[in-house]
Formats: sequence, C-alpha cells, structure tokens
Amino acid sequence: MPICQNCENEWTWLQSIVAFKMKCPHCGKKQYETNKSRQRRLWLDFLPLAVFPITVLLGLSLWATLVIIIAVIIASFIFHPFILKLSNEQEPFW
Ligand SMILES: [Zn+2]
Repeated sequence: MPICQNCENEWTWLQSIVAFKMKCPHCGKKQYETNKSRQRRLWLDFLPLAVFPITVLLGLSLWATLVIIIAVIIASFIFHPFILKLSNEQEPFW
C-alpha cells in the first residue's frame, strides 16, 4: 500500500482509491505518483488490450472475451493501490 512521504502513514486500499486529488488522508499534504509507479500502472492499464489477442487465439466466444476483459479491468483497478508509490514532489514525465 502507498505510504505518504510527508507523514509516513500508510494509506489503506480504500483511502488510495478515494484519495481526492491525491491528498493524504492523514496529514492533508498533496502527494504525487512516482514515475516508476506510473509506468507500472500504464502496463496494468494496457493489460485488458493484451488479453484480447489471447482470447482470439484461444477461439473464445465474444461473451467469454468480454467477461475476461471486464475481469482484468476490475483486477487492475483492485491492484492499483498495491503498486501506487508516492512522492512529495512531482517527478518529470521523462
Ligand atoms: Zn501524510
């Protein structure tokens, strides 16, 4: 789970999901996602797209494909707080 770099309190899963504008629920200081965390999240966000060709290769029906893709989207949403790493300052994108 993400740890606030200002007050070093760990955010709960729910706090990570609902953190309004990435403000720490403990100290109120704005936190930023680190570049590494952002890159991991990008992979997670593209996972549903990667699943699609696999379901086509396996010859799955449209319904099975939809169910799997929705499950992957939900799973990536659930796992997001586990890969979220926080920083006190916004890192440049490159
Ligand atoms: Zn804090």
